[in-house]
Amino acid sequence: MTRNLIVGGGVYGAAVAFELASRGEEVRLIEADCIRAGASAGPGSRGVRANYRDYRELPLMAMARTLWPGLHETLDVPALFERTGQLILLERSMDFGNAEARVALQNRHGIPTELLGQDALREREPDLTPAILGAVWCPDDGVADHSATTLAFANAATAAGAEISEGITVTGLVTRGGRVVAVACDQGKEIEVSGSLFLLANSGVPALVSPWINLPTWNLPFQVLLSHPLPDNPVRHLVGHASRTLSLKREKDGRLMISGGRPGHWDHEADKGIAIPQEVAANIADAVAVYPSLEGLEVDIADAGHLEADSVDAIPIIDRLPGIKNVLYATGWSGHGWAIAPAITKLITAWALEDARPQLLAPFSFGRFG
Ligand SMILES: Cc1cc2nc3c(=O)[nH]c(=O)nc-3n(C[C@H](O)[C@H](O)[C@H](O)COP(=O)(O)OP(=O)(O)OC[C@H]3O[C@@H](n4cnc5c(N)ncnc54)[C@H](O)[C@@H]3O)c2cc1C
Repeated sequence: MTRNLIVGGGVYGAAVAFELASRGEEVRLIEADCIRAGASAGPGSRGVRANYRDYRELPLMAMARTLWPGLHETLDVPALFERTGQLILLERSMDFGNAEARVALQNRHGIPTELLGQDALREREPDLTPAILGAVWCPDDGVADHSATTLAFANAATAAGAEISEGITVTGLVTRGGRVVAVACDQGKEIEVSGSLFLLANSGVPALVSPWINLPTWNLPFQVLLSHPLPDNPVRHLVGHASRTLSLKREKDGRLMISGGRPGHWDHEADKGIAIPQEVAANIADAVAVYPSLEGLEVDIADAGHLEADSVDAIPIIDRLPGIKNVLYATGWSGHGWAIAPAITKLITAWALEDARPQLLAPFSFGRFG
Protein backbone atom coordinates (compact mmCIF):
# COMPACT_ATOMS: atom_id res chain seq x y z
CA MET A 1 0.00 0.00 0.00
CA THR A 2 1.28 3.44 -0.87
CA ARG A 3 -0.22 6.87 -0.23
CA ASN A 4 0.51 8.38 -3.68
CA LEU A 5 1.01 6.26 -6.80
CA ILE A 6 2.31 7.56 -10.12
CA VAL A 7 2.08 5.66 -13.42
CA GLY A 8 4.74 6.72 -15.96
CA GLY A 9 8.44 7.47 -15.63
CA GLY A 10 8.83 10.30 -18.15
CA VAL A 11 9.45 13.89 -17.13
CA TYR A 12 5.88 14.31 -15.82
CA GLY A 13 5.90 11.25 -13.57
CA ALA A 14 9.45 11.87 -12.34
CA ALA A 15 8.82 15.56 -11.60
CA VAL A 16 5.54 14.93 -9.74
CA ALA A 17 7.33 12.21 -7.73
CA PHE A 18 9.98 14.79 -6.83
CA GLU A 19 7.41 17.47 -5.95
CA LEU A 20 5.50 15.07 -3.68
CA ALA A 21 8.52 13.45 -2.03
CA SER A 22 10.17 16.80 -1.34
CA ARG A 23 6.99 17.84 0.54
CA GLY A 24 7.33 14.74 2.74
CA GLU A 25 4.60 12.76 0.93
CA GLU A 26 4.90 9.00 0.59
CA VAL A 27 5.09 8.22 -3.17
CA ARG A 28 5.77 5.28 -5.47
CA LEU A 29 6.30 5.54 -9.24
CA ILE A 30 5.59 2.61 -11.58
CA GLU A 31 7.19 2.57 -15.02
CA ALA A 32 6.60 -0.10 -17.69
CA ASP A 33 10.10 0.14 -19.13
CA CYS A 34 12.74 2.34 -17.52
CA ILE A 35 12.89 5.99 -16.43
CA ARG A 36 12.96 8.10 -19.65
CA ALA A 37 11.77 5.47 -22.11
CA GLY A 38 9.04 7.43 -23.90
CA ALA A 39 8.79 10.96 -25.32
CA SER A 40 11.14 12.26 -22.60
CA ALA A 41 13.94 10.18 -24.16
CA GLY A 42 15.70 9.94 -27.51
CA PRO A 43 18.43 11.74 -29.42
CA GLY A 44 19.09 15.49 -29.46
CA SER A 45 17.59 18.02 -27.07
CA ARG A 46 14.15 19.53 -26.46
CA GLY A 47 13.10 23.10 -27.19
CA VAL A 48 12.02 25.23 -24.23
CA ARG A 49 9.97 27.57 -26.33
CA ALA A 50 7.36 30.20 -25.50
CA ASN A 51 7.36 31.55 -29.06
CA TYR A 52 4.22 30.67 -31.07
CA ARG A 53 2.74 28.57 -28.27
CA ASP A 54 -1.03 28.16 -28.03
CA TYR A 55 -2.42 31.17 -26.14
CA ARG A 56 -3.81 28.89 -23.41
CA GLU A 57 -0.32 27.60 -22.67
CA LEU A 58 1.30 31.05 -22.45
CA PRO A 59 0.51 31.55 -18.71
CA LEU A 60 2.10 28.14 -18.04
CA MET A 61 5.14 29.09 -20.09
CA ALA A 62 5.37 32.41 -18.22
CA MET A 63 5.64 30.31 -15.04
CA ALA A 64 7.99 27.68 -16.54
CA ARG A 65 10.47 30.28 -17.84
CA THR A 66 11.08 31.39 -14.25
CA LEU A 67 11.82 27.77 -13.22
CA TRP A 68 14.07 26.47 -16.02
CA PRO A 69 17.22 28.58 -15.39
CA GLY A 70 17.54 27.42 -11.74
CA LEU A 71 16.21 23.89 -12.13
CA HIS A 72 19.68 22.28 -12.00
CA GLU A 73 20.29 23.96 -8.62
CA THR A 74 16.98 22.62 -7.27
CA LEU A 75 17.92 19.11 -8.47
CA ASP A 76 21.62 19.46 -7.59
CA VAL A 77 23.00 18.54 -11.02
CA PRO A 78 25.03 20.38 -13.72
CA ALA A 79 23.14 22.91 -15.90
CA LEU A 80 20.12 21.48 -17.75
CA PHE A 81 18.78 24.55 -19.58
CA GLU A 82 20.66 26.63 -22.12
CA ARG A 83 19.26 30.01 -23.16
CA THR A 84 19.74 30.28 -26.95
CA GLY A 85 16.86 32.52 -28.01
CA GLN A 86 14.26 31.28 -30.50
CA LEU A 87 13.36 32.57 -33.95
CA ILE A 88 10.18 31.80 -35.86
CA LEU A 89 11.07 32.53 -39.48
CA LEU A 90 8.60 34.39 -41.71
CA GLU A 91 8.92 33.47 -45.37
CA ARG A 92 5.55 34.73 -46.66
CA SER A 93 4.29 38.31 -46.39
CA MET A 94 0.86 36.89 -45.41
CA ASP A 95 2.37 35.62 -42.11
CA PHE A 96 3.23 39.10 -40.76
CA GLY A 97 -0.28 39.88 -39.46
CA ASN A 98 -0.28 36.74 -37.31
CA ALA A 99 3.31 37.52 -36.23
CA GLU A 100 2.44 41.05 -35.06
CA ALA A 101 -0.55 39.74 -33.09
CA ARG A 102 1.64 37.12 -31.40
CA VAL A 103 4.34 39.63 -30.50
CA ALA A 104 1.71 41.72 -28.67
CA LEU A 105 0.10 38.70 -27.00
CA GLN A 106 3.36 37.13 -25.81
CA ASN A 107 4.60 40.47 -24.39
CA ARG A 108 1.27 40.83 -22.55
CA HIS A 109 2.05 37.49 -20.86
CA GLY A 110 5.46 38.81 -19.76
CA ILE A 111 7.37 36.90 -22.45
CA PRO A 112 9.82 39.32 -24.13
CA THR A 113 9.15 39.07 -27.90
CA GLU A 114 10.22 41.19 -30.86
CA LEU A 115 9.44 41.32 -34.57
CA LEU A 116 12.71 41.40 -36.53
CA GLY A 117 13.10 42.75 -40.06
CA GLN A 118 15.60 41.31 -42.52
CA ASP A 119 18.65 43.30 -41.32
CA ALA A 120 18.19 42.52 -37.61
CA LEU A 121 17.51 38.87 -38.46
CA ARG A 122 20.66 38.57 -40.61
CA GLU A 123 22.77 39.90 -37.72
CA ARG A 124 21.64 36.85 -35.73
CA GLU A 125 21.44 34.28 -38.56
CA PRO A 126 23.76 35.40 -41.42
CA ASP A 127 23.49 32.10 -43.34
CA LEU A 128 19.73 32.24 -43.91
CA THR A 129 18.40 32.36 -47.46
CA PRO A 130 17.43 35.92 -48.55
CA ALA A 131 13.91 34.53 -49.10
CA ILE A 132 13.24 34.82 -45.35
CA LEU A 133 11.53 38.18 -44.80
CA GLY A 134 11.73 38.48 -41.03
CA ALA A 135 11.25 36.59 -37.76
CA VAL A 136 9.60 36.65 -34.38
CA TRP A 137 12.36 36.61 -31.75
CA CYS A 138 12.04 35.32 -28.17
CA PRO A 139 15.43 35.94 -26.48
CA ASP A 140 14.66 33.93 -23.31
CA ASP A 141 13.77 30.67 -25.08
CA GLY A 142 16.31 27.86 -25.20
CA VAL A 143 16.95 24.13 -25.09
CA ALA A 144 17.25 21.46 -22.39
CA ASP A 145 18.74 17.98 -22.25
CA HIS A 146 15.51 15.98 -21.85
CA SER A 147 17.15 12.71 -20.88
CA ALA A 148 19.38 14.31 -18.21
CA THR A 149 16.50 16.42 -16.85
CA THR A 150 14.13 13.45 -16.51
CA LEU A 151 16.81 11.36 -14.82
CA ALA A 152 17.69 14.28 -12.51
CA PHE A 153 14.03 14.57 -11.41
CA ALA A 154 13.89 10.79 -10.78
CA ASN A 155 17.15 10.76 -8.81
CA ALA A 156 16.10 13.77 -6.74
CA ALA A 157 12.72 12.10 -6.07
CA THR A 158 14.50 8.94 -4.87
CA ALA A 159 16.84 11.00 -2.68
CA ALA A 160 13.77 12.67 -1.14
CA GLY A 161 12.24 9.27 -0.32
CA ALA A 162 10.22 8.24 -3.40
CA GLU A 163 10.22 4.59 -4.46
CA ILE A 164 10.68 3.96 -8.20
CA SER A 165 9.77 0.57 -9.71
CA GLU A 166 10.74 -0.11 -13.32
CA GLY A 167 9.57 -2.94 -15.59
CA ILE A 168 5.97 -3.00 -14.31
CA THR A 169 3.12 -2.21 -16.73
CA VAL A 170 -0.17 -1.03 -15.30
CA THR A 171 -3.05 -2.73 -17.14
CA GLY A 172 -6.11 -1.43 -15.30
CA LEU A 173 -7.55 0.42 -12.32
CA VAL A 174 -9.37 -1.29 -9.45
CA THR A 175 -12.21 0.83 -7.99
CA ARG A 176 -14.28 0.64 -4.83
CA GLY A 177 -16.79 3.21 -3.55
CA GLY A 178 -15.94 5.87 -6.16
CA ARG A 179 -12.17 5.64 -5.58
CA VAL A 180 -9.31 3.75 -7.19
CA VAL A 181 -7.94 1.48 -4.47
CA ALA A 182 -5.31 -0.34 -6.53
CA VAL A 183 -3.80 -0.68 -10.00
CA ALA A 184 -3.65 -4.05 -11.77
CA CYS A 185 -0.24 -4.88 -13.23
CA ASP A 186 1.03 -7.17 -16.00
CA GLN A 187 2.65 -9.55 -13.53
CA GLY A 188 -0.81 -10.41 -12.18
CA LYS A 189 -0.37 -8.48 -8.98
CA GLU A 190 -2.14 -5.39 -7.69
CA ILE A 191 -0.51 -2.35 -6.12
CA GLU A 192 -2.74 -0.64 -3.57
CA VAL A 193 -3.06 3.13 -3.21
CA SER A 194 -4.67 4.93 -0.27
CA GLY A 195 -4.34 8.53 -1.51
CA SER A 196 -3.94 9.95 -5.02
CA LEU A 197 -3.27 8.08 -8.27
CA PHE A 198 -1.51 10.08 -10.99
CA LEU A 199 -1.80 8.74 -14.55
CA LEU A 200 1.19 10.43 -16.22
CA ALA A 201 1.95 7.79 -18.83
CA ASN A 202 1.47 10.03 -21.94
CA SER A 203 0.63 7.58 -24.78
CA GLY A 204 -0.43 5.00 -22.17
CA VAL A 205 -3.09 7.19 -20.51
CA PRO A 206 -5.95 6.89 -23.06
CA ALA A 207 -6.12 3.08 -22.63
CA LEU A 208 -6.05 3.32 -18.82
CA VAL A 209 -8.94 5.82 -18.67
CA SER A 210 -10.97 4.19 -21.49
CA PRO A 211 -13.46 2.42 -19.14
CA TRP A 212 -14.59 5.96 -18.11
CA ILE A 213 -13.83 8.33 -20.98
CA ASN A 214 -12.85 8.23 -24.61
CA LEU A 215 -10.10 10.84 -24.91
CA PRO A 216 -9.94 12.65 -28.29
CA THR A 217 -6.27 11.78 -28.68
CA TRP A 218 -4.08 9.51 -30.76
CA ASN A 219 -0.47 8.38 -30.48
CA LEU A 220 2.21 9.31 -32.98
CA PRO A 221 6.00 9.03 -33.04
CA PHE A 222 7.65 12.29 -34.11
CA GLN A 223 10.68 12.21 -36.36
CA VAL A 224 14.06 13.56 -35.22
CA LEU A 225 17.09 13.76 -37.53
CA LEU A 226 20.65 14.28 -36.35
CA SER A 227 23.24 15.29 -38.89
CA HIS A 228 26.84 14.28 -39.13
CA PRO A 229 28.88 16.81 -37.02
CA LEU A 230 29.16 20.02 -39.08
CA PRO A 231 32.46 21.98 -38.98
CA ASP A 232 30.51 25.15 -39.93
CA ASN A 233 27.05 24.71 -38.49
CA PRO A 234 25.09 27.63 -40.01
CA VAL A 235 22.29 27.51 -37.38
CA ARG A 236 23.12 29.74 -34.41
CA HIS A 237 19.83 29.78 -32.43
CA LEU A 238 16.79 27.60 -31.82
CA VAL A 239 14.91 28.07 -35.10
CA GLY A 240 11.31 27.35 -36.08
CA HIS A 241 9.29 28.35 -39.10
CA ALA A 242 5.83 29.90 -39.45
CA SER A 243 4.86 27.98 -42.60
CA ARG A 244 7.18 24.96 -42.87
CA THR A 245 7.14 21.91 -40.56
CA LEU A 246 10.64 22.66 -39.38
CA SER A 247 12.60 23.06 -36.17
CA LEU A 248 16.41 23.36 -36.09
CA LYS A 249 18.66 23.00 -33.07
CA ARG A 250 22.41 23.33 -32.93
CA GLU A 251 23.59 20.48 -30.70
CA LYS A 252 26.62 20.86 -28.43
CA ASP A 253 28.63 18.21 -30.38
CA GLY A 254 28.37 20.19 -33.65
CA ARG A 255 25.47 18.18 -35.06
CA LEU A 256 22.31 19.80 -36.36
CA MET A 257 18.98 18.44 -35.10
CA ILE A 258 16.18 18.69 -37.66
CA SER A 259 12.63 18.07 -36.45
CA GLY A 260 9.40 20.08 -36.19
CA GLY A 261 6.66 17.48 -35.96
CA ARG A 262 6.92 15.29 -39.05
CA PRO A 263 5.54 11.82 -38.24
CA GLY A 264 7.19 8.42 -38.23
CA HIS A 265 5.39 5.08 -38.49
CA TRP A 266 4.58 3.02 -35.37
CA ASP A 267 4.87 -0.75 -35.87
CA HIS A 268 2.40 -2.08 -33.28
CA GLU A 269 3.58 -5.69 -33.58
CA ALA A 270 7.23 -4.84 -32.98
CA ASP A 271 6.20 -2.00 -30.60
CA LYS A 272 8.67 0.43 -32.15
CA GLY A 273 8.76 3.46 -34.40
CA ILE A 274 10.33 3.65 -37.85
CA ALA A 275 11.34 6.78 -39.79
CA ILE A 276 9.55 7.21 -43.15
CA PRO A 277 12.03 7.96 -46.00
CA GLN A 278 9.71 10.56 -47.66
CA GLU A 279 9.33 12.43 -44.36
CA VAL A 280 13.10 12.35 -43.79
CA ALA A 281 13.68 13.77 -47.29
CA ALA A 282 11.02 16.46 -46.81
CA ASN A 283 12.49 17.55 -43.45
CA ILE A 284 15.98 17.86 -45.00
CA ALA A 285 14.60 19.71 -48.04
CA ASP A 286 12.96 22.29 -45.77
CA ALA A 287 16.21 22.76 -43.82
CA VAL A 288 18.20 23.26 -47.05
CA ALA A 289 15.57 25.67 -48.43
CA VAL A 290 16.11 27.87 -45.38
CA TYR A 291 19.89 27.42 -44.97
CA PRO A 292 21.26 26.76 -48.50
CA SER A 293 24.74 25.86 -47.17
CA LEU A 294 23.20 22.65 -45.72
CA GLU A 295 22.97 21.21 -49.28
CA GLY A 296 24.43 17.68 -49.21
CA LEU A 297 23.86 17.31 -45.45
CA GLU A 298 24.46 13.78 -44.18
CA VAL A 299 22.04 12.39 -41.60
CA ASP A 300 23.54 10.02 -39.00
CA ILE A 301 20.36 9.29 -37.02
CA ALA A 302 16.73 9.21 -38.20
CA ASP A 303 14.72 8.42 -35.07
CA ALA A 304 10.98 7.87 -34.71
CA GLY A 305 11.08 5.66 -31.64
CA HIS A 306 9.27 7.84 -29.11
CA LEU A 307 5.48 7.97 -28.92
CA GLU A 308 3.63 11.14 -27.99
CA ALA A 309 -0.13 11.55 -27.43
CA ASP A 310 -1.68 14.24 -29.67
CA SER A 311 -5.04 15.84 -28.94
CA VAL A 312 -7.60 17.17 -31.45
CA ASP A 313 -7.03 20.78 -30.38
CA ALA A 314 -3.26 20.34 -29.92
CA ILE A 315 -3.19 21.23 -26.21
CA PRO A 316 -3.03 18.77 -23.31
CA ILE A 317 -5.90 17.26 -21.34
CA ILE A 318 -5.30 17.49 -17.58
CA ASP A 319 -8.19 16.50 -15.35
CA ARG A 320 -9.75 14.28 -12.73
CA LEU A 321 -11.40 11.07 -13.85
CA PRO A 322 -15.22 11.56 -13.81
CA GLY A 323 -16.91 9.92 -10.82
CA ILE A 324 -13.56 8.89 -9.31
CA LYS A 325 -12.33 11.07 -6.47
CA ASN A 326 -8.63 10.30 -6.32
CA VAL A 327 -7.31 10.10 -9.91
CA LEU A 328 -5.57 12.87 -11.87
CA TYR A 329 -4.44 12.26 -15.44
CA ALA A 330 -2.46 14.31 -17.95
CA THR A 331 -1.80 13.53 -21.61
CA GLY A 332 -2.20 14.91 -25.15
CA TRP A 333 0.95 17.05 -25.09
CA SER A 334 0.86 17.22 -28.90
CA GLY A 335 4.60 17.57 -29.36
CA HIS A 336 5.18 20.49 -27.02
CA GLY A 337 4.77 19.17 -23.48
CA TRP A 338 8.42 19.46 -22.57
CA ALA A 339 8.88 23.18 -22.00
CA ILE A 340 5.87 23.55 -19.70
CA ALA A 341 6.59 20.42 -17.61
CA PRO A 342 8.25 22.16 -14.61
CA ALA A 343 5.19 24.42 -14.23
CA ILE A 344 2.47 21.84 -14.85
CA THR A 345 3.97 19.28 -12.48
CA LYS A 346 3.96 21.83 -9.63
CA LEU A 347 0.31 22.65 -10.42
CA ILE A 348 -0.75 18.98 -10.62
CA THR A 349 0.91 18.36 -7.24
CA ALA A 350 -0.89 21.36 -5.73
CA TRP A 351 -4.22 20.14 -7.19
CA ALA A 352 -3.83 16.74 -5.50
CA LEU A 353 -2.64 18.10 -2.15
CA GLU A 354 -5.14 20.97 -1.89
CA ASP A 355 -7.99 19.20 -3.70
CA ALA A 356 -8.68 22.28 -5.83
CA ARG A 357 -7.96 22.73 -9.54
CA PRO A 358 -5.35 25.49 -10.01
CA GLN A 359 -6.79 28.28 -12.18
CA LEU A 360 -3.93 27.95 -14.70
CA LEU A 361 -5.03 24.36 -15.47
CA ALA A 362 -8.71 25.24 -16.08
CA PRO A 363 -8.31 25.55 -19.92
CA PHE A 364 -7.10 21.93 -20.11
CA SER A 365 -10.16 20.17 -18.69
CA PHE A 366 -11.83 17.29 -20.55
CA GLY A 367 -15.07 19.30 -20.27
CA ARG A 368 -13.91 21.67 -23.04
CA PHE A 369 -14.85 19.01 -25.60
CA GLY A 370 -18.52 19.21 -24.58
C1 LIG B 1 10.63 13.56 -30.92
C2 LIG B 1 9.95 14.50 -29.96
C3 LIG B 1 10.37 15.84 -29.93
C4 LIG B 1 9.78 16.72 -29.02
N1 LIG B 1 10.22 18.02 -28.98
C5 LIG B 1 9.70 18.85 -28.06
C6 LIG B 1 10.20 20.18 -27.94
O1 LIG B 1 11.15 20.57 -28.64
N2 LIG B 1 9.64 20.99 -27.00
C7 LIG B 1 8.60 20.59 -26.21
O2 LIG B 1 8.12 21.38 -25.39
N3 LIG B 1 8.14 19.32 -26.28
C8 LIG B 1 8.67 18.45 -27.18
N4 LIG B 1 8.21 17.17 -27.24
C9 LIG B 1 7.16 16.73 -26.32
C10 LIG B 1 7.70 16.31 -24.96
O3 LIG B 1 8.94 15.62 -25.10
C11 LIG B 1 6.67 15.41 -24.29
O4 LIG B 1 5.43 16.09 -24.27
C12 LIG B 1 7.04 15.05 -22.86
O5 LIG B 1 8.33 14.50 -22.80
C13 LIG B 1 6.01 14.06 -22.31
O6 LIG B 1 6.44 13.58 -21.05
P1 LIG B 1 5.61 12.46 -20.28
O7 LIG B 1 6.30 12.22 -19.01
O8 LIG B 1 4.16 12.83 -20.24
O9 LIG B 1 5.63 11.20 -21.24
P2 LIG B 1 6.75 10.09 -21.57
O10 LIG B 1 8.10 10.65 -21.53
O11 LIG B 1 6.27 9.45 -22.84
O12 LIG B 1 6.63 9.09 -20.37
C14 LIG B 1 5.53 8.24 -20.20
C15 LIG B 1 6.05 6.95 -19.61
O13 LIG B 1 4.94 6.13 -19.24
C16 LIG B 1 5.30 4.78 -19.46
N5 LIG B 1 4.05 4.02 -19.59
C17 LIG B 1 3.16 4.07 -20.60
N6 LIG B 1 2.12 3.27 -20.34
C18 LIG B 1 2.36 2.69 -19.13
C19 LIG B 1 1.64 1.74 -18.34
N7 LIG B 1 0.46 1.26 -18.73
N8 LIG B 1 2.20 1.35 -17.16
C20 LIG B 1 3.39 1.86 -16.73
N9 LIG B 1 4.10 2.76 -17.46
C21 LIG B 1 3.59 3.17 -18.64
C22 LIG B 1 6.14 4.80 -20.71
O14 LIG B 1 6.99 3.68 -20.78
C23 LIG B 1 6.89 6.13 -20.57
O15 LIG B 1 8.19 5.94 -20.01
C24 LIG B 1 8.77 16.26 -28.16
C25 LIG B 1 8.34 14.94 -28.20
C26 LIG B 1 8.95 14.05 -29.07
C27 LIG B 1 8.50 12.61 -29.12
